[in-house]
Amino acid sequence: SRINSLSAFETLESNVRSYSRFFPVVFKRAVGAVLEDEIGREFIDFLSGAAVLNYGHNDPDFLNDAILYLQKNGLIHALDMATSAKRDFMEHFAATILRPRGLTYKFQFCGPTGANAVEAALKLARKATGRHSIISFTNGYHGVSLGALAVTGNRYYRDAAGLPPTGAVFMPYDRYWGAANDTSKYMAKVLVDPSSGVDLPAAVILETIQGEGGINPASKEWLQSLERLCRKHDILLIVDDIQAGCGRTGNFFSFEFADISPDIVLLSKSLSGCGLPLSLVLLKPDLDVWQPGEHSGTFRGNNLALVTATAALRKYWTNEKLSARVVETGRLMNERLREVAQNNRGRFSVRGRGMMWGLDCGTGGMAENIVHKAFEDGLVIERCGAEGQVIKLLPPLTVDEQTLQRGLDILDKAVQASG
Ligand code: PMP
Repeated sequence: SRINSLSAFETLESNVRSYSRFFPVVFKRAVGAVLEDEIGREFIDFLSGAAVLNYGHNDPDFLNDAILYLQKNGLIHALDMATSAKRDFMEHFAATILRPRGLTYKFQFCGPTGANAVEAALKLARKATGRHSIISFTNGYHGVSLGALAVTGNRYYRDAAGLPPTGAVFMPYDRYWGAANDTSKYMAKVLVDPSSGVDLPAAVILETIQGEGGINPASKEWLQSLERLCRKHDILLIVDDIQAGCGRTGNFFSFEFADISPDIVLLSKSLSGCGLPLSLVLLKPDLDVWQPGEHSGTFRGNNLALVTATAALRKYWTNEKLSARVVETGRLMNERLREVAQNNRGRFSVRGRGMMWGLDCGTGGMAENIVHKAFEDGLVIERCGAEGQVIKLLPPLTVDEQTLQRGLDILDKAVQASG
């Protein structure tokens, strides 16, 4: 098998990073949706760096722009200097994403990772409202730094902090008690009940489709009720679009389908288009309450990442058909996954939106077996959900149909073999 013939695994065992244990090969190069290891074996990538690579690996447009910028001695200085790379990105973002949607967000660049954007948003919400607590949701995931972890509802990650981080009040996410029970009613009640012990929070932070929490899509109605509640009590609505944004669900922002208007939006992962770290906080203009330098950080708005981020915006903008293609490819994935679930006597269930799909295997052990078997046959997939029971499928949005079907065939076979 692929795994048994790995010469490199022994040396990787000393690496504490768990991915080396799950995927014990040494990857060397990648093009589109296909990774290649050191000895030339190919693996289809349905993980995309957890939705970092919506355009696949090494897209020539990103490579060309990055190489050209470097060849012309483009600025690599950090901090928040005004640079041509940053201006180009901001102008493109405003012209192609914000203005056509009637949005007027301001830009706050943060440290390079998603968690940096989450920290900035929580801090900003507290300063802007003068309130302390933040409402977050069961199964939500926002990162591993202390503030982001405080609003992450997963015990495994929280326990890693020793003493659990505080500051958040957790509410039940949509469908926590099944589809028939509207959990926003519970929230509406505890916010006004003087006996609930729930103080009015600075903000609500949520994913419109939970990624790490098990691919749990929230309904349009639930999101709209939450928005109404936020407006009623002057609570800021923060949408963490770090995993589901940048086109993953078919629209550029994952919340567009619900017709809501968050006060703060967080982007990272696929923002730079090609895996370079970059994160961004979009805020409504009246939230621009920080004095210059109050929220600083060395690596804010990395110039090279901004160059490729502009290329990604151009690609999104010029490729009108991309949204339609995401919806259509998502439909194919859903159909095929439902077949896989049905062929296995209903032990599996399928959830998702756009090109973000989850196969719920019931138990973490079952999902793990499937991930291993699929990897042996040349497919990289990952698990998510509170028990690691959901297989997460996030191919690049640009995956060709043949590669998509090949990947789904491998998954189908792995599910059958684990039966
Ligand atoms: N928010 C969401 C929704 C995420 O999926 C992630 C990463 N999986 C993060 C925040 C944290 O991002 P990072 O790992 O880049 O800090």
